[in-house]
Amino acid sequence: MNSEIYVDTVVIGSGILGLSIAYYISKKFPNMTIAVLEKNPTFGVETSSRNSEVIHAGIYYKKDSLKAKYCKLGREMIYDICKKNSIPFNKCGKFIIINNDEQYSKLIQIKENAFYNEVNLKYLDKRELSKIENLSHFTGALWSPDTGILDSHSLMKYLEQSAIENNVHFVYKSSFHKMIDMNRDAYLIEILDENYKPYHIKCRNFINSAGLNSDKVAKSCGIKDNFKIKPCRGRYFSLSYKYKNYFKNLIYPLPDPMGGLGTHITFDLNGKLKLGPDIDWSFSETHEATDIDLYKINQNDLLCQDKFLESGKKLIPSLKTEDIYPDYVGVRPKLFVDNNLYEDFLIKEITNDNLFSIHLLGIESPGLTSALAIGNEISLKIN
Ligand SMILES: Cc1cc2nc3c(=O)[nH]c(=O)nc-3n(C[C@H](O)[C@H](O)[C@H](O)COP(=O)(O)OP(=O)(O)OC[C@H]3O[C@@H](n4cnc5c(N)ncnc54)[C@H](O)[C@@H]3O)c2cc1C
Repeated sequence: MNSEIYVDTVVIGSGILGLSIAYYISKKFPNMTIAVLEKNPTFGVETSSRNSEVIHAGIYYKKDSLKAKYCKLGREMIYDICKKNSIPFNKCGKFIIINNDEQYSKLIQIKENAFYNEVNLKYLDKRELSKIENLSHFTGALWSPDTGILDSHSLMKYLEQSAIENNVHFVYKSSFHKMIDMNRDAYLIEILDENYKPYHIKCRNFINSAGLNSDKVAKSCGIKDNFKIKPCRGRYFSLSYKYKNYFKNLIYPLPDPMGGLGTHITFDLNGKLKLGPDIDWSFSETHEATDIDLYKINQNDLLCQDKFLESGKKLIPSLKTEDIYPDYVGVRPKLFVDNNLYEDFLIKEITNDNLFSIHLLGIESPGLTSALAIGNEISLKIN
C-alpha cells in the first residue's frame, strides 16, 4: 500500500473480535471495501490465543450487562458455526463444586444469578456426584450443560479465510499509529508499515478492536473519557500426561472473592488438563498492557507452583508437585474508568454525518464466547 488509499471500513486488530467483525460485515456487504490492519505477522496471536478456550454459558455476569447479553447470544452462535463448518469443539459441560456444606449458600446465589441470565444450571448433591467418575469427594455441585470448549485457532482461521473469500483485505505487520483527521466525509488515519514507514488510509467506518491497545486507539480518536487498560496476567500450570482425560467436564471452584472465577481445571480437545488462570496484578502499574515481557514465565511464576498445587488439590486430592508445570500466561485487558475497575465490556459508538466509529474496550472474558454476537451486531449498525 502507498500514500493515501480509500476503503469503506477499517478494522484495527485481528484477534477474535476483529476477525468476527470483518467476517459479518463482509457477509452483509459483499461490495464494501474492508481492510483489517494488524501489527503482528498473522491473526490472533495475543489474548485470543492465550486463554482457556472455554465457551462460557453466561452464569456469573450481572443481569443486563453486556457480558451477560453477548455471552448468551455468542455461545449459541459459536456452537452453530462450529457444527456447520467442522470446527472442533466439545460441549462437555462444567461443574462448579463445593468442598463443604458451608459453601452451599454461595452455590445458590450463583444459581439465582444464572436464572436471571436465563442460563440453565442443575444442583447435584454428594450422592449424585458419587456416581460420576472422580467427583465423589465433592459435597455438592452445580452442573452447567451449555459450557464447552473449542479449538479457537480453527475458528479464527475459518473467520479469516471466509472474510478473505468475501474480499476483505488483511494487512499484517501494519500498526495503527494515529487518527489524523475526522472531517465530515472521512476519517484519515496514519498507519506504520513493518519498516515504520507511515502511509495513510481514508475510511468512513472505523472499528477499534485493538485489544490491549484499544484505549490508546480510542484516545487518538479524540475520546476524552478518563480510562486506561491495565494488564492483569493469568498464569496456567498444566498437568502431567497421567491426568489426561481425568475429568470429562470442566471443574470450577466457587469464584474468588478477590475477583475471577477461582483457579479452575479446564482441558483442551486432546484431554490435556490445566489449572488456571490465576490473577497476577504485579505488573499492572509498571508495565504497558502490550509489553511482551508480560507473557514470559518469570521467577515469581515458578514460585507460584505451591499455590497452584494447593488449589489443584482441592479439585484432585492426589495431585503432587511433580504433576504440574508452568505452561503459559495470558493478559487480561482490565479496563479502569476514573481509576475504578470497570466490570463490563465498554462499547463506545460515535456517529456523525456519514461517519461511524466504534471502540471495543475491556473485552476480557467472556470475550471469546461473545465475539460472534458482537461482530454480528456491529455489522447491523453500519451501512
Ligand atoms: C487468561 C485469559 C483467559 C481467558 N479465557 C477465556 C475463555 O475461556 N472464554 C472466553 O470467552 N474468553 C476468555 N478470555 C477472554 C478472551 O480471550 C478475550 O476477550 C478475547 O480474546 C479478546 O479478543 P480481542 O480480539 O478483543 O483482542 P486480541 O486477541 O488481543 O486482539 C487484538 C489485536 O489487535 C492488534 N493490535 C493492537 N494494537 C494495534 C495497532 N495499533 N495496530 C494494529 N493492530 C493492533 C493486536 O496485535 C491483536 O492481534 C480469556 C482471557 C484471558 C487473558
